[in-house]
Amino acid sequence: MAHTHCIKKMLGIEDPNIYLDDMPVVFEENKQVKNIVVQGKLSYTPRCCKKCGITNDSHQDIIKNGTKLSTIKLTHINFQPVLLRLKKQRFLCKHCAQTFIAETKLVERHCFISNIIKRTIAMELREIQSMRLVAQHLSVSNSTVIRVLEKVAEPLEANHIYLPQHLSIDEFKSVKNVSGAMSFLFLDAQNHRLIDVVEDRRQNQLIDYFMRYPKESRYSVKTVTMDMYSPYLAVVKDCFPKAQIVIDRFHIVQHLNRALNSFRIRVMNEAKKKSETDYRKLKKQWKLLLKNEWELDVTDYRTHRLYEGLVTEKMMVDYLLHINPRLRQVYTLVNDLRFALQRHDFDQFKTILEESRKYVLPKKVRTTVQTLFKYQEGIRNACLYTLSNGAIEGVNNKIKNIKRSGFGYRNYSHLRARILISYRLTASQFEPKALHYKEEKRRQEEKEKAKAN
Ligand SMILES: [Zn+2]
Repeated sequence: MAHTHCIKKMLGIEDPNIYLDDMPVVFEENKQVKNIVVQGKLSYTPRCCKKCGITNDSHQDIIKNGTKLSTIKLTHINFQPVLLRLKKQRFLCKHCAQTFIAETKLVERHCFISNIIKRTIAMELREIQSMRLVAQHLSVSNSTVIRVLEKVAEPLEANHIYLPQHLSIDEFKSVKNVSGAMSFLFLDAQNHRLIDVVEDRRQNQLIDYFMRYPKESRYSVKTVTMDMYSPYLAVVKDCFPKAQIVIDRFHIVQHLNRALNSFRIRVMNEAKKKSETDYRKLKKQWKLLLKNEWELDVTDYRTHRLYEGLVTEKMMVDYLLHINPRLRQVYTLVNDLRFALQRHDFDQFKTILEESRKYVLPKKVRTTVQTLFKYQEGIRNACLYTLSNGAIEGVNNKIKNIKRSGFGYRNYSHLRARILISYRLTASQFEPKALHYKEEKRRQEEKEKAKAN
């Protein structure tokens, strides 16, 4: 018996009512697929009749009555499917003269795919890979994978009751049929746990969504970290009246860099007619121009194919800036603002912004300055708190990769389910057989109670 016990353990068959044959493992080839087939029997003494519910106290009312053979997809070993050929005991109830088949928590009723494989599918769905690939690896159909996806994601839904004190919000590019193709996600800014994904990021939809949470939860939110997207301001004002807005520092820098870069392109295109070499320098060295001024190297002299003689980074930047005096002006402004931000010095930041109002700036840079003015309260908070949207950007990145792995998603709910599984599913959470059994037990108890009354 010992070897069958080992095989059972290895394959993850926990049900004590399953008895493997003495020589349980055979190999079969079916449609050019080599299967490992494990043979066994499922039998026990039932406690009651499944059909009429009579208890089997005397062990006389219910008798064994033949078996029913079923083949269960158990697991996968060495890229080969492992099948369990199980003779399930059939019982005959003398009381109601009906028959029923023995059940096991290894597999759900009317199902040929074991819960072991379903759990493997769920765990595989957490990783960045297409659902088709998961199906292929475990030799199940695509629709099985989708069924598991839907079932597993269901209990992972947010409860719409609790909200953390510090929220971090962002949007991501969703599927095409979602209006605007942008969806919304938010997480706990402190422990970086994903809370929920919302299909539509538009203002009214978000307000409707957050209004589902009880007032106490919404009023307990202290900060909301976000990027500079104006509809969010109204959402925060309506739904979280006690919360302070924190603009993500990375986004402020990104905004500044974009302004500088767009002006560089303008200068570059102007230079095209005058000097080919200036044009090429401005084109190739965009990265150097975006580097923080205080981090430029001033001591390391090197040769550079665009320059004659030995140059340092600082010398090259100086050259680029001399091409157009307005470029130098924008460059200085952007660097001063970045520097103030890095030192968490909001007063300095605001002073620079106000100073910049006095002189003429290129249109795009002016718009950026105005945007920063509009969000100054949030920028002030960004200097005060250490909260950032770093974690949510990481989530965003993973979503992008999940989408790419499946060559895009057509179905929003499937994408959403995969995001929830990726971030909210833990190994202990997925125990369908436990759930299954609990429910069965509860039903049985209810039936017995009803009988006793
Ligand atoms: Zn019966």
